[in-house]
Amino acid sequence: MTFLVDYHMHTVRCNHAEGTLEEYADQAVAVGLSEIGFSDHLPLSPAPADVLSRDWAMNEEELPEYVEDIYSLQRKYPSLPIKLGIEADYFPDRTSIAKTEKMLQAFSWDYVIGSVHHLGYWTVDSSEYLHEFERRDLYKVYEDYFETVIKAANSGLFDVLGHIDLVKKFGHVPRADLTSLYRDFAQEIKKSGIAFEINTSGLRKPIGEIYPAEGLLRELLNLQVPVTLGSDSHSPLEVGKDFDKALELLKRYGTDRIATFTKRQRIMRPLEV
Ligand SMILES: [Zn+2]
Ligand SMILES: [Zn+2]
Repeated sequence: MTFLVDYHMHTVRCNHAEGTLEEYADQAVAVGLSEIGFSDHLPLSPAPADVLSRDWAMNEEELPEYVEDIYSLQRKYPSLPIKLGIEADYFPDRTSIAKTEKMLQAFSWDYVIGSVHHLGYWTVDSSEYLHEFERRDLYKVYEDYFETVIKAANSGLFDVLGHIDLVKKFGHVPRADLTSLYRDFAQEIKKSGIAFEINTSGLRKPIGEIYPAEGLLRELLNLQVPVTLGSDSHSPLEVGKDFDKALELLKRYGTDRIATFTKRQRIMRPLEV
């Protein structure tokens, strides 16, 4: 039997997802997952004022209710381990880091996913800001994005890096050879000690491929950076989606263990049990 987890699942509280928590859990059981974790968006209050939007995350006041929802779901599904996670945006400024830290400290998370969705005031994964790509040099955008992800990795705020090459979402990939960029990036992630996720949601986006790109994934797995799995579900039918493809990649690069988390302690579990 293959031990699979889906650690990246959202809830209706973020205002851009659908379905009940039970529907997500039922789907996880139906597709044969061994363990799941919800990781809805942490309220974006640390964000600079003009990236603030109620459509992207719950309100700060709702955070305790979200935590209670997950606890009550755990009681309803005693035979399915359900972890309490959260996906937090990373903003490199001091004030945002302090606010994020404060919100994270208020609850007993099993794990925290750290994600970069913004470069300064630019939301890189929003179709509203696609025009920014035309103004900038794409290779430099990648360098900036990876540099910010490395800062997130080294911030000590997070356990897992979310969709580490999200910047490619709409199909923007520099024509240049990315081998050395990927290699240097992977080495920095390895040094930080953090885990990353294979996030299958990229397959459902214009880029049509898993995060991270295979060239980057190869570098990370060759360095034995701990890896976990996430579908980035915003709908119950997305739970565990395309995990067969993720599994195939893990096997291709000789990875036989995945990272799981309990109270922010990483536990590596064999994929084949
Ligand atoms: Zn979302
Ligand atoms: Zn995300």
